[in-house]
Amino acid sequence: MTLIAASNPLTRELAEKLRLRQAELRAMLQEAAGANIAGDNPPEVLDFKDVAAEETRAVVDEAAYAHATDELSRIVLALRRVEDGTYGLCEDCGEAIDERRLRALPATPFCTACQTIHERPGTPRR
Ligand SMILES: [Zn+2]
Repeated sequence: MTLIAASNPLTRELAEKLRLRQAELRAMLQEAAGANIAGDNPPEVLDFKDVAAEETRAVVDEAAYAHATDELSRIVLALRRVEDGTYGLCEDCGEAIDERRLRALPATPFCTACQTIHERPGTPRR
């Protein structure tokens, strides 16, 4: 019953968490986008050590940026499931996802069993 899922206190609690995280990630990504725009006016570079540090930071930022974008899209999808009343149900098998798993990973669309299948590489070992 979708009504039960939507009024479930756990769903409401986790939806609140997801919204907070969503706002956080949006702010972070916006800031990152702003920093890129500021590239028009680069700060003065003092020596090679600074250049190296700057480059390392850029790589780390890019990875963090990709990770944040990824997380944000999963959160958006999870919040959509909250709206649909399907939050907390596995997208693959339709079973209820374990509460402890949801608390640890509020944006997860899969139950533990299905996640294990997804994490397995496409070609099974023989
Ligand atoms: Zn499942």
